[in-house]
Amino acid sequence: MLYAAMAKIDSSSMTVYQVKERDLDKLPEPDRKVMKKLGVHLEQIDKGLTRNTENNSSLRFKLFTYNMLRVRGAKKCAWCDCDVPQMIEGAHIWPVFSIKKAVLEDSIKKQAATDGDNGIWLCRNHHKLFDADIVNINPKKLVLQIINSFSSYSYIKNSISCNDASNYIDGKVSKEYLEQRYS
Ligand SMILES: [Zn+2]
Repeated sequence: MLYAAMAKIDSSSMTVYQVKERDLDKLPEPDRKVMKKLGVHLEQIDKGLTRNTENNSSLRFKLFTYNMLRVRGAKKCAWCDCDVPQMIEGAHIWPVFSIKKAVLEDSIKKQAATDGDNGIWLCRNHHKLFDADIVNINPKKLVLQIINSFSSYSYIKNSISCNDASNYIDGKVSKEYLEQRYS
């Protein structure tokens, strides 16, 4: 059944997340064999923030990606039409470097750093522009704004096909993260 379903999709660009929950942490061996044969990439996710996850940024990153897939759905840039999975990244609304500096309990910081509501799918170009604060999300109007000193670059303006941020700054939690970003 699994094999039949997977034969119809392009498995070479597919990642399957194995989520560790209680004592069940892996797919059954036959399923894993089939996926390996098809070239599917298997990623192990630890849902709980264990000691390992706390100290390992790559594990934290995987958990963030997993949570984003659950909250935000398939990888597609929120600002343009790019949906090439290899070009889409999870961008933090409240950036990790600023979470680290906050005077908060470690468990709250870790929650913020891996929370799907604190993420937006962006293509690499738009992720860069967001991280550099060249394109910002106005926290009151929930629209994108290019800073004045970059307004002469028509590339930036033309590359954005969706100016409305209310699709993903869509709840109390996301709004709080955005307020933290610009506080
Ligand atoms: Zn984009």
